[in-house]
Amino acid sequence: MKIAIYPGSFDPITKGHLDILKTAAGIFDKVIIAVARNSEKHGFLPVDVRVKLIKESVKDLDNVEVDFFEGLTINYARQKGATVLIRGLRAVSDFEYEMQLSQANSALADEVKTVFLTTKPKYNFISSSTIKEIFLNKGDISKFVPEPVFNYLDKEYENV
Ligand code: ADP
Repeated sequence: MKIAIYPGSFDPITKGHLDILKTAAGIFDKVIIAVARNSEKHGFLPVDVRVKLIKESVKDLDNVEVDFFEGLTINYARQKGATVLIRGLRAVSDFEYEMQLSQANSALADEVKTVFLTTKPKYNFISSSTIKEIFLNKGDISKFVPEPVFNYLDKEYENV
């Protein structure tokens, strides 16, 4: 059984993330999408809300599990019996950072391989930070995020 981890901040999950996840779910036996809890990085949404919104957004995908973790991704991967890390690439600008990260991870755990995937072009420019910026400036984000995220933000911020 090939288990892959898709780690990230997912603050919040976007249609770009979802597209990568669906592709990964079609390739691997099981994919665990896992929110990295970083004590130093103060997020936009709390980790438990991010997890809840991911769960609602992926409920139709049978071989996908949702979780969160702290610490090194490779330790989490080992704990879950996963041998693959999924990362997405949008532009050349992602490449340098992602390359370094994957090499650092292979230096630490050679048995865990990073697989890079790309999205459909229409989702390529979407990032969680762009979504936050558009949303906080009262722009329409309905095309860029799964419905549970849209509904949550709409309700949570209706009086702001
Ligand atoms: P991180 O803080 O770990 O970069 P993100 O939630 O921003 O977490 O992203 C998780 C992964 O998903 C990263 O590999 C990122 O490059 C990828 N990703 C995010 N948005 C897109 C997108 N629109 N197309 C392709 N990959 C994406």
